[in-house]
Amino acid sequence: FNAPTPANEPVKEYRPGSPEREAIKIALADFRAMETDIPMYIDGKEVRTEHKLRVAPPHDHQHTLGYFYEGDGQHVEQAIEAALSAKEDWASLSWENRASIFLKAADLIAGPYRARINAATMLGQSKNAYQAEIDSACELIDFLRFNVHYATEIYQQQPNSSPGVWNRLEYRPLEGFVFALTPFNFTAIAGNLPTSAALMGNTVVWKPAYSQALSAKVIMDVLNEAGLPKGVINLIFVDGPVAGDIIFNHADFAGIHFTGSTGVFQQIWGTIGANIHKYKSYPRIVGETGGKDFVLVHESANADEVATGLVRGAFEYQGQKCSAASRAYIPSTLWPAVETKMKQFLGEIKMGGTEDFTNFINAVIDKRAFKKITAYIDEAKKSGQVTVVAGGNYNGSKGYFIEPTILKVSDPAYRTMCEEIFGPVLSVYVYEPSEFDKIIETVNSTSPYALTGCIFAKDRYIINYVANKLQNAAGNFYINDKPTGAVVGQQPFGGARASGTNDKAGSALNLYRWVSARTIKETF
Ligand code: NAD
Repeated sequence: FNAPTPANEPVKEYRPGSPEREAIKIALADFRAMETDIPMYIDGKEVRTEHKLRVAPPHDHQHTLGYFYEGDGQHVEQAIEAALSAKEDWASLSWENRASIFLKAADLIAGPYRARINAATMLGQSKNAYQAEIDSACELIDFLRFNVHYATEIYQQQPNSSPGVWNRLEYRPLEGFVFALTPFNFTAIAGNLPTSAALMGNTVVWKPAYSQALSAKVIMDVLNEAGLPKGVINLIFVDGPVAGDIIFNHADFAGIHFTGSTGVFQQIWGTIGANIHKYKSYPRIVGETGGKDFVLVHESANADEVATGLVRGAFEYQGQKCSAASRAYIPSTLWPAVETKMKQFLGEIKMGGTEDFTNFINAVIDKRAFKKITAYIDEAKKSGQVTVVAGGNYNGSKGYFIEPTILKVSDPAYRTMCEEIFGPVLSVYVYEPSEFDKIIETVNSTSPYALTGCIFAKDRYIINYVANKLQNAAGNFYINDKPTGAVVGQQPFGGARASGTNDKAGSALNLYRWVSARTIKETF
């Protein structure tokens, strides 16, 4: 087994006048001008139905970007059938032939598809150019290349043998098909979940979030051009519970690769548990779910670094990252300086549509999210326990725009400190430095999640102390940095507790879940 050694894809800057800026402007204008037709892909064929649903930019929801075709139960059945029929040929294809499809897909995104996939993410999911570039270009390219590298390492791990005996481990794919169920907020995740399972020899039914339909189509175009055989990944647009009802009752259901909210994952886990006697094998259940990610600041920290980390961590991509900084604990000695600096930053950043490259804040994904997030803000405004430090206004008339909002709470257990809001809302609790131990316990216990978190401190004993005390409070723990921005190959990503099964996307730990190893002992 052999594969090229991967390196992280460099992030392009999209400076004014640069070729990449010009290319993306053309791609944006193209998508704006046409109504993209987005079929399902089942068994290598485009599938259209009578039921067309509109795709609109969240920042300009009256504009039509295109239409996708919603399927029903029979399309789920067809996708499962296609995956099962493709399985034998795909699983027995040589590693080099399988891997090279995904390496080619990475090259296509790095080159001819880069502007297109970024533009689809900018328009369809309201990401600014930088957020799209680090997601749909760099992270997805990295997932594809690093997964090939990690899989190559896995296949090479073999047990000891002795004279007269040759022991071998065969990393077989799972028996049956895998279901990839993906969220709206990262094009890279939508691309990674079906492809990582497929890389290990599995065939997949993939259902993306409807609000990610446009970039899902570009991913499928890339995979088709890279030469993915028919039936290996089958893209369906079917209502989640409708798809789930068929898939989780199917004897050949072999595993789910999920990223999304905690509530949906827990419901799915319950259904799988209730149906366990129906399956040929115990399904692999891999889920990366919600977060309530903390920023713990010690009085030895640098206030400017804290303010930068908070504004970037809380508000990039409108706080719609599972890793977003959403609760901060700041000592009263630093709060005035941190507050002033954050307000200064927020005064400088602009909010608006993604086609204007100077906008930092764009719209949230849809009306449902807009209503949910603004309800938290309205309730906070009415509550006697909260001071609105910044933002708090919103307007959904043209796009779903919500100002970056900072809430200062008097109770560290107030609901915005505990519940995932998934929007541009940062809650801050200001504590007295003498209460530091109590605050560490509060960080650990007031939220059920354990995805990301960070400590800002210059005092080494404090960093060590906090890292030990908060061992289980974050799957990804940052020291003097914001809790977002994990890079494939550098910071394997995933959380525990209510944040997921912690199978670390972008690492060998994840890929192991998609194989069912056979041990062979041969005696001479
Ligand atoms: P979501 O849970 O609403 O949807 C995820 C997927 O599940 C979508 O494809 C959706 O259509 C489908 N779905 C929804 N209800 C279903 C049901 N009852 N049965 C079957 N399928 C169903 O999540 P979202 O709003 O798309 O994404 C945001 C969530 O994802 C946040 O909670 C965020 O924290 C989480 N997330 C986690 C990570 C991570 O790595 N931990 C990464 C990204 C997003």
